[in-house]
Amino acid sequence: MRMANEIVQLLVQSAGSWLFEGHRSGLSDREWMALRFLALANRFSKTPTALADFLGTTRSAASQIAAVLLEKGLVVRKSSAEDKRSITLCITREGEKFLERDPINALRDQLVTLEVSDLSRLRDTLRRVLVRLDVAERRHHTDVCNQCMFLVENGGGKDRHFKCRLFRKSIAEKETTLLCTYFEARS
Ligand code: SF4
Repeated sequence: MRMANEIVQLLVQSAGSWLFEGHRSGLSDREWMALRFLALANRFSKTPTALADFLGTTRSAASQIAAVLLEKGLVVRKSSAEDKRSITLCITREGEKFLERDPINALRDQLVTLEVSDLSRLRDTLRRVLVRLDVAERRHHTDVCNQCMFLVENGGGKDRHFKCRLFRKSIAEKETTLLCTYFEARS
């Protein structure tokens, strides 16, 4: 228990890189969170609803955050390739460049100095903890396609292809590492 408390404290202190008062480089912590998410989200999760889900906020609060990003030219509205009636929020080239100033990069830059084996253990351990929290709190977290129970892989070699059983759509291999708010962990 003592070690668990110590780890909780360390996680809380590391949150200082992404939770802060006021603005950094012109964006609040929530706005940075939204921009970061939209840069990594897959095509099903670039919607205002998915953004609200990811931020754990209302659709109207998420729209206000998106409006700031749109006004700064970091994000643009496009009609969805999946459903022409809905819109998607796509990061612009300027938005991608702006992410180089993301305050969370300070934490990322420390993580990349770790051994690959330590990084992979840390990633897998954090993911396991999140999945258990989801079960305990009856919620689900946003995560990458290649860990989702709905992703099916068929074929092999050149014929290898992926499909999402939830949306009944093909998923390109490069999309399997993108974030999805409809993610469900494999049991
Ligand atoms: S497989 Fe899962 S994570 Fe990937 S698009 Fe489908 S629901 Fe989302």
